[in-house]
Amino acid sequence: MQRIVVLAGGIGGARFLRGLKSAVPDAEITVIGNTGDDIHLFGLKVCPDLDTVMYTLGGGIHEEQGWGRKDESFAVKEELAAYGVGPEWFGLGDRDFATHIVRTQMIAAGYSLSDVTEALCARWQPGVRLLPMTDDRVETHVLIDDPDSKEGRRAVHFQEYWVRLRASVDAQAVVPVGADSAKPAPGVLDAISEADVILFPPSNPVVSVGTILAVPGMREAIAEAGVPVVGLSPIVGDAPVRGMADKVLAAVGVESTAAAVAQHYGSGLLDGWLVDTVDADSVRAVEEAGIRCRAVPLMMTGTEATAAMAREALALAGEVQA
Ligand code: GDP
Ligand code: CA
Repeated sequence: MQRIVVLAGGIGGARFLRGLKSAVPDAEITVIGNTGDDIHLFGLKVCPDLDTVMYTLGGGIHEEQGWGRKDESFAVKEELAAYGVGPEWFGLGDRDFATHIVRTQMIAAGYSLSDVTEALCARWQPGVRLLPMTDDRVETHVLIDDPDSKEGRRAVHFQEYWVRLRASVDAQAVVPVGADSAKPAPGVLDAISEADVILFPPSNPVVSVGTILAVPGMREAIAEAGVPVVGLSPIVGDAPVRGMADKVLAAVGVESTAAAVAQHYGSGLLDGWLVDTVDADSVRAVEEAGIRCRAVPLMMTGTEATAAMAREALALAGEVQA
């Protein structure tokens, strides 16, 4: 049986995984999920990326939106607002609240985030093994300009930057607070060392895959696994397909092009890279950087189109030397 490890953020990772499962139904897929987006709200621990993967693969996702529950209502949020309790900019629905209550209750009782994720997945049956990148607290913060503060800048939580500010101000730096001392969650390093292939889905290279790679030991384990590592570009036609990845790429000094993202990961990590057909011109630059590259359609318009992307990624993995 083929063992596949995927480093996933939220929407891009989750949608890709749905295609991958459909392409190789018999494969054993382990997902290492980003937890740098996690936030504490109303006393609850919210893990947006883990939940997006779990809901998407488990059939509970709000399809058009790409995150949160389908058939959602917002009574709790309205009641909180009536008390003047925010933040009002983070959309937590009633059904979603239940997930965060269960998670927070279990953590308060002494369970690890890995244990909790497994328990939540017992309900959702995502068909993959979903592991948080770490059980330790890691929170991505973004350094932004703030003319009103003494230093001229301030740090905000990633969710405040992304959801409240819609990345409308430039990011000076992206800092995964706590990553330095975080340990990979149980099972993560073993899954990597036992994998036949490792995939980077079209997830955000900075605040999703980048955060996972910031956990000490992760990057080394992947590089030393001795198996093909293949990624798919989230940048198509010099812009993110969805969202504001260009803003956080700029913060780390990387251009928003499919080739620049591949070079950012580098040939020490990546063996193969898929770019969209509109970026066929960039194949040469990627190959010159020592990464095997091919241009194929990369728009996840439906499960079949996404499964075709997954098959291309696995085919490329079959061609490259780790
Ligand atoms: P997030 O945590 O919800 O932001 O999700 P991810 O980090 O997993 O993925 C976000 C990235 O997915 C964005 O940078 C998008 O450009 C990318 N993305 C979304 N849909 C598509 C698609 O259909 N094709 C490709 N190639 N990338 C996509
Ligand atoms: Ca995310």
